[in-house]
Amino acid sequence: MEKVNYLILGAGPAGLAFANSLRENKPGVSFLVLEKEGEAGGLCRSEEVDGSALDIAGGHFLDVRRPEVNRFLFQFMPEEEWNLFDRDSRIDMGTYEIGHPFEANIWQMPQEEQVRFLKSIAVAGCNLGTPMPERFVEWVTWKLGDLVAEAYMLPYNSKMFGGDLEALGTYWLNKLPNVSFEETLLSCLNRKPYGTQPGHAQFYYPKKYGYGELWRRMGEALGDCLLCGKSVAKLNPETRTVTCEDGSSFQAERIVTTIPWKAVREYEDCGKNILEDIGKLRHTGTEIRYVAENLDTKAHWIYVPDPAISYHRILVRHNFCAGSRGYWVETNLDRVTEEPNAAAFRNEYTYPLNTIEKPAAVARLLSYMRQRGIYGLGRWGEHEHYNSDLTVERAMKLFQELEGEDA
Ligand SMILES: Cc1cc2nc3c(=O)[nH]c(=O)nc-3n(C[C@H](O)[C@H](O)[C@H](O)COP(=O)(O)OP(=O)(O)OC[C@H]3O[C@@H](n4cnc5c(N)ncnc54)[C@H](O)[C@@H]3O)c2cc1C
Repeated sequence: MEKVNYLILGAGPAGLAFANSLRENKPGVSFLVLEKEGEAGGLCRSEEVDGSALDIAGGHFLDVRRPEVNRFLFQFMPEEEWNLFDRDSRIDMGTYEIGHPFEANIWQMPQEEQVRFLKSIAVAGCNLGTPMPERFVEWVTWKLGDLVAEAYMLPYNSKMFGGDLEALGTYWLNKLPNVSFEETLLSCLNRKPYGTQPGHAQFYYPKKYGYGELWRRMGEALGDCLLCGKSVAKLNPETRTVTCEDGSSFQAERIVTTIPWKAVREYEDCGKNILEDIGKLRHTGTEIRYVAENLDTKAHWIYVPDPAISYHRILVRHNFCAGSRGYWVETNLDRVTEEPNAAAFRNEYTYPLNTIEKPAAVARLLSYMRQRGIYGLGRWGEHEHYNSDLTVERAMKLFQELEGEDA
């Protein structure tokens, strides 16, 4: 059994950021990163398809909002290697398109439609002062009115997250822009969007490569400390021992885990309640399918709420990946009807689901593991809907916290 100071499970953005922080700042500390795939990058990997990069878990863009994170990342892929874009994302309404977010761009609809939507927003629960519901489905109608709920929010979310929206809570909805009736009305009168812009209002995408190139380089920087093809099968929290599918085992003083808790087949010596908490964690998967045609649009991506169409988003590659052609579509795995082919990539773990019971289960799980020197980090380690820049920020913070404990 190999023994190290730190064992990092998973080489996606979270694991790579934590491991590179160790490499840069703690030369005497021994560590290994165990990754089940053949290369680093996790959900942010890219592959070459039809002569250009394709992001195999879906469209990925680096937000400008975290300059400290980006300074850290630009060490591996300097800013000159990225193009900077102003976001152009649209919603396909069938016979016309409007900008995203929906409620800030009602002014782009035909006028009679604007009136219908405004009327519905005016009598939404939040504008009438009725109590805020605790479930996602009722919350959407309460907050945005029945028409926005029916035309976009409910069908789109049901396509992306799977049919069972009833299980979702509302605690995560601070991600959604908050636009009031008054603002929507002013927006229609002045013919311009109102409210807070969503994430990625400005973003970077590599000039010559896919998004995966950044993370591939971060993996390369780790040298022999990155072990690919190591799929973690068992974890013993009491002894901090990990066993992989190939029979190899490792032990560490601290384990930082960024892999889905459910992806570990067996937890040895682990409290029954904690196993139940892990069982409560839910997620969805996504298929990415490339289409070798150009689209007549300037949008970077387009949301497609129509339930009759299987995919929920179109990524217009030729509008952000220099020198490329074609686009790809993103579909919840449960809605995929087409046969797999060379231009289709399937990922079982893409969206952690914000179910009503999740916050309590995750809080108990992370606290139990922390007491044993095991730290959940990133989209899966914390089971949070984090973007890559946020997982890197979380990794930098965890590194500083543990460094502080050792000082
Ligand atoms: C469709 C889609 C679009 C997105 N768009 C954006 C975007 O535009 N911008 C952005 O910043 N973020 C975006 N994200 C989020 C981004 O993908 C995540 O924030 C980021 O990948 C999280 O990094 P992570 O390291 O926490 O997890 P992951 O990237 O999932 O990495 C986890 C790693 O663990 C490995 N692993 C899993 N099981 C095992 C095992 N048993 N043993 C060993 N290794 C294992 C996996 O192979 C993987 O490498 C998007 C996500 C999706 C799904």
